[in-house]
Amino acid sequence: MAMPEKPENEDRRMARVGDTTADLLARWGFDPDNVAILPERHPQYRECERHGRYAISIVDEQGVVRYRSPVCPVCAAEQASRRLMESAAIPKRYIDCGFDNYVVDLPGQQTVLEVCREYAEHFEEHARHGDCLIFCGNPGTGKNHLASAIARTVLAKGHSVLHTTAYDLIARIRETWKGSDHGREREVICGFAEVGLLMIDEVGKTFGSDGERIHLFEVIDHRYRDLRPTIILSNEDVEGVERYLGTAAFDRLCQGGGLLRFDWESHRRGRRGVR
Ligand SMILES: [Zn+2]
Repeated sequence: MAMPEKPENEDRRMARVGDTTADLLARWGFDPDNVAILPERHPQYRECERHGRYAISIVDEQGVVRYRSPVCPVCAAEQASRRLMESAAIPKRYIDCGFDNYVVDLPGQQTVLEVCREYAEHFEEHARHGDCLIFCGNPGTGKNHLASAIARTVLAKGHSVLHTTAYDLIARIRETWKGSDHGREREVICGFAEVGLLMIDEVGKTFGSDGERIHLFEVIDHRYRDLRPTIILSNEDVEGVERYLGTAAFDRLCQGGGLLRFDWESHRRGRRGVR
């Protein structure tokens, strides 16, 4: 097959593939010497620099050649995932963060990786129970990396994901106060409540007035009642997060969920479920 065939062989081979090919040739006015449409010459392949060979044509059950989009399917899937991540408002520097490129040097990192991977892979089950996660720890310990890896997996399963900061969430709700339309506030809170998975980053970074805590609590509580999972990311320690959110919201988030310390010296796990 690798060697170029002589024209007389082509005739015999064309007779063998039968009427379909002959019909096609006649119908489309192809030069019979042009063998590109012969089913035996398919599938044809192209080469992606990053992912290697991919088929750009197939032969269907009737022996007809069907062309596919000449775009590497892996690249296309990556692009689709990128678009989804953008719509989920994942910060750009985390868009390529997955479970596979999370670097593990310490047992604590292995633990959080396993908990997060399990959570993402069994998201439907966790969502049914409204299981939440709280990530606590200093900046640069990989909280956002793993949150993005969860987002990517959950988006790929077809759920909606929204990444926001506590500051943005509060600002969005407060913006509605400018007008006289008080229904808008409820609308914004419901918007945050309806997302399949909500990630609230930088919890504790804002000054933490009671008014702010009320907004966060409203969103967390609304989601809790609807059994919708929320992931909280904070640079505070566990006590700091509890102090900031208030015990009621903190308890809702811990119920059935996991508390992950990104301190690499010790880690505490969920009160139930995630181990
Ligand atoms: Zn590719």
